[in-house]
Amino acid sequence: MTKYDPDNIFAKILRGDLPSERVYEDDETVAFMDIMPRADGHLLVIPRSKARNMLDATLAQLVACMATVQKLSHAVIAAFEAEGVTIQQFNETAGGQEVFHLHFHILPRHPGVNLRPPGTIEDHAVLVANAARIRLALAG
Ligand code: AMP
Repeated sequence: MTKYDPDNIFAKILRGDLPSERVYEDDETVAFMDIMPRADGHLLVIPRSKARNMLDATLAQLVACMATVQKLSHAVIAAFEAEGVTIQQFNETAGGQEVFHLHFHILPRHPGVNLRPPGTIEDHAVLVANAARIRLALAG
């Protein structure tokens, strides 16, 4: 497998070289808003440490990410009055991966509401407002 590229977008976000709308962080993981959300409240959870994707991740990285995914799934359900979540995770180009730092998508879901098509950048103000809703749910 191709080795980890330290200049991928999420590595830059982790270093603070690129902005992100963070909603949660702990010693092992960081969660922030996807800039092209396929549902309101679409989040990404990443490990702080290097992993290209699930194929080279350690068990510890996967466990830490899944703990954060579970915690934030409850938060987005509360924040957006969702009835469920879809969790997505892509590996390598053939598997649909576009950013090569391990990440999990959390997509709040409502009955009868399809995911939006990928590729549309959200208004920054909307991302800020949605992040605030999630932080409030985490605090509550
Ligand atoms: P994938 O690798 O297929 O899981 O897709 C990468 C995801 O990262 C997509 O959902 C993008 O919208 C998202 N994304 C790309 N650049 C950024 C960024 N600078 N901040 C937040 N999300 C991003």
